[in-house]
Amino acid sequence: MIYTKEELLEIFEMPRETYWRELAPQARDCCVRANGEAVLVSALLGYSNICKNHCLYCGMRADNACLRRYRMTKADMIAAGTASADAGFGRLFLVSGEDPLFPFADLLEIVSCLHRRGVFLSLACGEFSPEQYRELKAAGADEYVVKFEMSDPKSFDRLNPSTSFQKRMAAIEAVKQSGMLLASGNIIGWPGQTREELAQDILLMKQLEISWAPVIPYLPAKGTPLAQEGGPADRWLMLKELSVLRLMMPKIRITAQQPGDDLSRGLADLDGNLDAIKAGGNVLFFDLMPSPDAQVFRVIDNRNITGTSHIYALSEKSGLPLDTAAERVK
Ligand code: SF4
Repeated sequence: MIYTKEELLEIFEMPRETYWRELAPQARDCCVRANGEAVLVSALLGYSNICKNHCLYCGMRADNACLRRYRMTKADMIAAGTASADAGFGRLFLVSGEDPLFPFADLLEIVSCLHRRGVFLSLACGEFSPEQYRELKAAGADEYVVKFEMSDPKSFDRLNPSTSFQKRMAAIEAVKQSGMLLASGNIIGWPGQTREELAQDILLMKQLEISWAPVIPYLPAKGTPLAQEGGPADRWLMLKELSVLRLMMPKIRITAQQPGDDLSRGLADLDGNLDAIKAGGNVLFFDLMPSPDAQVFRVIDNRNITGTSHIYALSEKSGLPLDTAAERVK
């Protein structure tokens, strides 16, 4: 068991070979014992890439002029979610920028409609009021993602100038109060992040009793200010984080849709995904939106997860079964 910041700092310093030989297999065993061998699969519908905010690391920030913007209609979203459910995919992740012109009433209707189809619904659509989170829960939303991104308030306020650390933590608290599961996490290895900050991020995830760690290594996105400061993150630091998260929280979902050494393959790099599973990750995603929109749903560049081929290829290569059913942990 890992409990302290000092233990985490030691693991960050551990030679790569020692980590991969000793700690990563422990994390994978822990995942299999707690959750079974199967890799969980979730559909992802990025329904709007319009955002009013200016997070310094995000390709969808408001003033990134290189990006074509789109917003799906309510009818298209329901049709996409229904088709995915009919094809046997019981989990759906609805995600968007903070789009002020997407009607909240439409979101409630979409959630309600897909909930009635038995879909396990996770949402990440930005900071809402406590009342709005309660309405989403009442409409049938199961889980809401509010990432704290970085647990150091000063770093957060610099990199997320459209909100504040205080507001973000209030939103996290409001999600918990609403009765939805809380998914939250950090960005690993952004330029200037200290190892102490990274350790503190991990301890905060544990403290928040998250259901899913939607974590990702920092990858510079075109047209963003933070891309001028450095990156990408060391992916071994990301793998170490996945392992310690697994050992600290055996039953949570941890994103395995992670890059490998060749960043041009994006998040669908089979070796990157397999390494993330070996390190303790257990959930993969595929885009449901039409391919031209998927290409500009660009929080980071090169996501490359359109269609399900990367998921089936991983299962074939590794022999691991896939679990596409709706979430059982409520
Ligand atoms: S991280 Fe989210 S809130 Fe921030 S700019 Fe990107 S889409 Fe908008």
